[in-house]
Formats: sequence, structure tokens, C-alpha cells
Amino acid sequence: MTECVFCKIGKGEITPKKIYEDQNIIAFLDIFPAAKGHSLVIPKKHYATLLDIPEMELKELIQIVQKVGAAVMKATQADGFNVLQNNKEAAGQAVPHLHFHIIPRFKDDGLKLALGSKQSEEKELVHWESLIKEHI
Ligand SMILES: [Zn+2]
Repeated sequence: MTECVFCKIGKGEITPKKIYEDQNIIAFLDIFPAAKGHSLVIPKKHYATLLDIPEMELKELIQIVQKVGAAVMKATQADGFNVLQNNKEAAGQAVPHLHFHIIPRFKDDGLKLALGSKQSEEKELVHWESLIKEHI
């Protein structure tokens, strides 16, 4: 019943350009790269989003994100890199299996991953500060 392409990668049914693998985690090159060396790090087990993975497995995963980020940056001689992680379709998650993007960045590469550019008003910040704190 598994149609999930990243589960198939985790099980070895599809073989991507692998750059790291251990018992629980695999990292490979994104076939739709935003930049040369753009890589993905995923748990082999299926978790839809960041909210679904158990804490201990997330700790392992983020350590590999760090390791792969360092390697990608060195290999591509990038000036920096973005770690991008989308949750659900509305946020741009194309494959509903938790994954971290590692995107090497170069000075003046023109890649637009821009966040907000308009400064928030104080009362709006106060509103969201208290509302989000209630849910922590
Ligand atoms: Zn999956």
C-alpha cells in the first residue's frame, strides 16, 4: 500500500544519488535542485511532518542534517546554506514524508527564499506572542 516515494527510497526500492546512509536515516541529492548539491535528509520510517516524528528520532535526524550540511557546503564550496523543512501542502511540502532540504548558497546567487520584508506592528507581535505561548 505504500506509494510514498521516500519510503521506497528508505527501503531501497528506488536508488537515489545517496550521500549518507545509516540504519534509520538516508540523505540524497534532490532531483529538482534549487542549487547544485541541493540534498535531502529523511528518516527511513514514514512520518508525514515534523509534528509526527518521535523526539529521539528527531534528535538523530537533525544531527545528520548538520553533518550533511557541513559536507555539502565543503563539497560545493558554498558561502552558506539554507536548511528548509516544509510541513503540509500549504507550506510547499511536495512529498508527504518528513524531509529536510539542504540548499547550498552562494553570494549573489539570486535564489529567492525570502521571508517577510514588512516589519510587524507592536500590537500584532504582542497578540501572537501571547497566543502562541498558550500552545507551547
Ligand atoms: Zn514515506
